[in-house]
Amino acid sequence: MPLKILTIVGARPQFIKAAAVSRAIRETDGLSEVMIHTGQHFDPNMSDIFFEELDIRKPQHRLAVNGGGHGDMTGRMLMAIEPILVAERPDWVVVYGDTNSTLAGSLAASKLHIPVAHIEAGLRSFNRRMPEEINRVVTDHLSTLHFCPTATAVANLAAEGVTQGVHHVGDVMYDATLFAISKAERASTALSDLKLRPREYALATVHRAENTDDPRQLRAVVQFLQERAQSHPVILPLHPRTRQAASRTGVNLDHLKIIEPVGYLDMAKLLHHAVEVYTDSGGVQKEAYFHRVPCTTLRDETEWTETVTHGWNRLWKGPDRVARREIGEYGQGCAAFDIAKLLASNPAA
Ligand code: UDP
Repeated sequence: MPLKILTIVGARPQFIKAAAVSRAIRETDGLSEVMIHTGQHFDPNMSDIFFEELDIRKPQHRLAVNGGGHGDMTGRMLMAIEPILVAERPDWVVVYGDTNSTLAGSLAASKLHIPVAHIEAGLRSFNRRMPEEINRVVTDHLSTLHFCPTATAVANLAAEGVTQGVHHVGDVMYDATLFAISKAERASTALSDLKLRPREYALATVHRAENTDDPRQLRAVVQFLQERAQSHPVILPLHPRTRQAASRTGVNLDHLKIIEPVGYLDMAKLLHHAVEVYTDSGGVQKEAYFHRVPCTTLRDETEWTETVTHGWNRLWKGPDRVARREIGEYGQGCAAFDIAKLLASNPAA
C-alpha cells in the first residue's frame, strides 16, 4: 500500500507550492495524495486559474470556508477538516506556509495523532502582531517533519528547541519558477496586453493585513508607489483584500496601473521583465530574485533575510541595497522531489 499524503491548501501561494510538490509525489514510488482545498481563497483568479495552469489535480475535498475573523475562519476550518481526516486516515498531513488553512490543518491532524509535515518551516519575522507569524510558530511546534527553505529557517527552529525531523531542502517556489518561466515566455501575452516594454515598468503587490487594515499605513504604501510611478509605470495586480480596504477607507489609487490579480504564468512574465519589484509578499520577494530583478519590500522586516544580505532586496524604510551576490540556499530546483523522497522514507512516523 502506498503511503497516503493528505495535502491541505487554501490560499494562492499554497496552490503554487503544492503544484510543485504534488508533481513530485506523483512521480515518487510509494506515495499517493489526497487534497483538501479549504476555500480560503475562492475567486477564480485567486484559485482555479492556478489549478489549471499548474496542472494540479482537482481536490477531492473542497470546503467553502472564507471570510470572517481569524477565530471564526480557523474554527470553521477545524470543524470541517477533522471528519475528513478521520475518514481518509492519511499517513501524513502536509501543510504549507503560514495561513489560517495551515494552522487549522496542523491543529486538526495533530489532535488526531496524524503526523504533520510543514513545508516552508522555520520562517520567522519575530513580529507576533502578524497573524502569519502566530500560524508559523504553532504549526512548527505541532509538526513532525520540517522542510526548511533556508539555513536561517533551520537556525530559527533550533533556537526554539526544534531539531528533530528538520531538513534544509531549499525552496519549492524556486522549483515552481523553473517550471513556469519558459512556459510563461511562450504563452503569456501579459506584456503586449498591457502595452508594456521590458524593463520599462515596475511590478507591485500589496496584501498583508499590516498594510491594508490601517488606513494610514495603506495610504503611506500607496504614496510610496505613486512616487515611484513618476519614474516608470507601476503595475499593481490588486489583491481582493487591498481593493476592499482601499474602497472602504477612500484611499485613492490614482497614477498606478491597477489590474485584476493575474495567473501564475502572467505573473512570471511580468516579474521577469520588470525593472523593479515593490511588494509585501513573501513569495514575490524571492521570485524577484529568481528572476534577478531588484526588490523593495514594503514592510519593516522580512523573513527572507538572505534576499537583503545578498543585495537583491531592501526594506522600504531601510538602507540601500548592498552589492549583489548569488543566493545558494534556495537549492537547485529539486526541493519538491527531496520532500517527496523524505516523506516516502518516513513510513514509521
Ligand atoms: N501571484 C500571482 N498573481 C498575482 C499576484 C501574485 O500569481 O496577481 C503569485 C506570486 O507570483 C507568488 C504568489 O502569488 O508566487 C504569492 O502569493 P501572495 O503574495 O498572495 O502570498 P505570500 O507569498 O505573501 O504568502
